[in-house]
Amino acid sequence: MTPFDLPVSPIITEMSWPTRIVLGPGALARLPLQVARLGMKRPLVVTDQGVVKAGLAARVYDLLAGFGIRFQRFEDVNPNPTDRDAAGGLAAYRAGDCDGLVAIGGGSSLDAAKLVQVLTTHEPPLSRYDDAAGGDRYLKDDMPPLIAIPTTAGTGSEVGRSGVATLPDTGRKTVIFSPYLMPKAAICDPELTVKLPPHITAATGMDAFTHCLEAYLASGFHPLADAVAIDGIRRVARSLPVAFHTPEDLAARTDMMIAAMQGAMAFQKGLGACHALAHALTPISGLHHGLANAVVLPTVMEWNRSAAAARLARVAVAMGEDARAGEEELAARAVDRVRRLSLELQLPVRLRDAGVREEDLPRIAGKAFEDASHQTNPRRCEEADLLELARAAF
Ligand SMILES: [Zn+2]
Repeated sequence: MTPFDLPVSPIITEMSWPTRIVLGPGALARLPLQVARLGMKRPLVVTDQGVVKAGLAARVYDLLAGFGIRFQRFEDVNPNPTDRDAAGGLAAYRAGDCDGLVAIGGGSSLDAAKLVQVLTTHEPPLSRYDDAAGGDRYLKDDMPPLIAIPTTAGTGSEVGRSGVATLPDTGRKTVIFSPYLMPKAAICDPELTVKLPPHITAATGMDAFTHCLEAYLASGFHPLADAVAIDGIRRVARSLPVAFHTPEDLAARTDMMIAAMQGAMAFQKGLGACHALAHALTPISGLHHGLANAVVLPTVMEWNRSAAAARLARVAVAMGEDARAGEEELAARAVDRVRRLSLELQLPVRLRDAGVREEDLPRIAGKAFEDASHQTNPRRCEEADLLELARAAF
């Protein structure tokens, strides 16, 4: 049997928007078909030790071997990738004489694979391609294809056009951003997420929520992103608590995988002050990215109320509030809904409870101000505003 002879499944959907997305319980089994379609003969599988220990990498290897597809492995991606992860992956790619990549894991493995992709056809250092410095102009559409298989429902990197890494010559989390970095195919199998520890389901799910919410509120005109974002907000509100309390609920897990993709599709419009602060909280205070967003988000929403009441009111309705209440009232309820969602997910609600030190707040605000995310926040922020937000969230 060749991969093209795999039987059609009644529960797995394939759609292109614009990435080819294979979605549904058991979708992982379609990997050989996507490899064959893209003409890959020797893919490099990029992953991390957590995915290896969970037995998910072995399933990928078995599937590829089952169809006689040779592959090379790189299993050493670190939780917050750096240039070293990219260099290690590139060495494995060259050693295996590879012609494409398959990334399986959370945002770190998916992003690391994108950085390896860049280095296969572009001169180092990676900092040359820093989006904040206009580096996207140096990226060309000549990179080998990437198939992304997420094992969390959070970053949406499987359909996103950015790879993030901490680089020595920028000293910060650096975003490399280009439509050429969008994976050629995403395989979204909700069964891969059912064994996630509940606190990771919660934190990654809140990252997806924050992408949808900040994109929806972001300044600028992007009705396509807005429509996708508001639907993502609806899905997270109804399905994240279910996935948290009933991990094996595949309908909720599927909903969350869709919401994660919607977040990443929508945030090409922009993000906001919450992500600017989160991008500083991870390297300075060691917070998980999704957790950092979850803790800061209600404070940022409250601060944005004066500039975005109408949009926040629609967020409240998407989360289940009665649309007949007035706009100001609904905007206040949106903030309250998000606070209660975090409480239900048993996430800390203050930065001090998440291990952040008060003396680090000025440095966090300084780094956050350097981050481009706040430039599309609906209310204009200065460094002093970011410090005030960080103190309020503390
Ligand atoms: Zn995020």
